[in-house]
Amino acid sequence: MSLLIRNVTLDGTVRELRISDGRIAAIESDAPHERAMHGIDRVIDGTGLHVFPSLKNAHTHVAMVLFRGYGDDMPLMDWLRTRIWPAERHLSEEDVYHGARLGILEMIRGGTTFFNEMYWHRPGIVRAVEEMGVRAVVGQTVIDIGDPGTTARQQQELLRLLETSRTEAGGRVTLAAAPHSIYTVTPELLAWVGALARKHDLLVHIHLSETQGEVDECLRAHGCRPTRLLERAGLIGPNLIAVHGQFLDEDELALLGAAGATLVTNPTANLKLATGGIFPYRAARAAGVRVCLGTDGAASNNNLDMLEEMKVAALVQKHRERDATVLPAAEALALATTSASAAFGLGSGTVEVGAPADLMLVDFRTPATQPLHDPVSALVYAAQAAQVHTTICAGRVLMHERRIEVCDEDAVIAAAVGSVRRLLHQATAATM
Ligand SMILES: [Zn+2]
Repeated sequence: MSLLIRNVTLDGTVRELRISDGRIAAIESDAPHERAMHGIDRVIDGTGLHVFPSLKNAHTHVAMVLFRGYGDDMPLMDWLRTRIWPAERHLSEEDVYHGARLGILEMIRGGTTFFNEMYWHRPGIVRAVEEMGVRAVVGQTVIDIGDPGTTARQQQELLRLLETSRTEAGGRVTLAAAPHSIYTVTPELLAWVGALARKHDLLVHIHLSETQGEVDECLRAHGCRPTRLLERAGLIGPNLIAVHGQFLDEDELALLGAAGATLVTNPTANLKLATGGIFPYRAARAAGVRVCLGTDGAASNNNLDMLEEMKVAALVQKHRERDATVLPAAEALALATTSASAAFGLGSGTVEVGAPADLMLVDFRTPATQPLHDPVSALVYAAQAAQVHTTICAGRVLMHERRIEVCDEDAVIAAAVGSVRRLLHQATAATM
């Protein structure tokens, strides 16, 4: 499959992008003459559109779109105990598949073609990624506190996946180990994951220091802060993707930075759940930590819109530091593109020859994005998903002129709504 995008604006200059075998084959300044058009399967007219690398969502629980708006404005533990956990108890792989398709659909509409995932029923998510044409790191979740009966099965599944997951979704899915957090996984199981990850060069995806309570409990139970506990388990290294990191001190940031680890900030979910901290972005960067950006699940966001997340991240950091120069627009975009590309080995953080063709075309000719002084500023601070015109992943057009090409959108929405109705019916019946 080869694709030609004509007359598209890249960094202020009108270009022709030639894509073949899933990669950007050429970026040219002149329209190709007729002979050079030979072998092109599809031409997209990019006149008036701006091309950017597609966005990468570095932390989510994609199928939780099923619980979007189900219990807003509640304290975290109340919300989990009375809403989320009872409903999740009845989740099937089919529900997760339908939820994942809906979440991926939403991300494609917002120019996002990659997500780093942690949830249950992994095969349902992999199937959705495969069908919808995006990329994902899909973690195998492991938990042993509060769910000891399933630990051995989770471990066996992870070991099995090490053998079988290499070719999932034509190589668009990568396996990670996903120990949920230090408060749901014992140090013994964390150490087991650490040894496995080192042996097999696996990414490790974990929630870390989301609340002050987590830090206090770690100090009480283990006599150290959470990052030091991960160090004891052998988990600190370049393959660590630690999520939230709102209550990290200087020593922890130095440890993560020296190891080449990645922190993912999820400002919208943190604000909504009122966890009380603000991610120490400036200190993390000063310590040499790679920082990425994620939406977290839609149950606590309530969307998977990375355009919005870039804006919120920039605003929150400016507010925290009382300095409007902190986390400028280009840096916010880098968190969602180049930084994520490096953390997850995607190679698609920039629009350049040889890179995987993971792209979005954005139409700024709308009331919300005119006049256009600076396309990056417009993208981060003014644009919404509605301005994303075309989304491409691995050279395949997933959406063009805002029309989804990879699925029947209405059917995907109806299936997800059907799933959640059944789930909530079961959850309510079980409590009566
Ligand atoms: Zn999360």
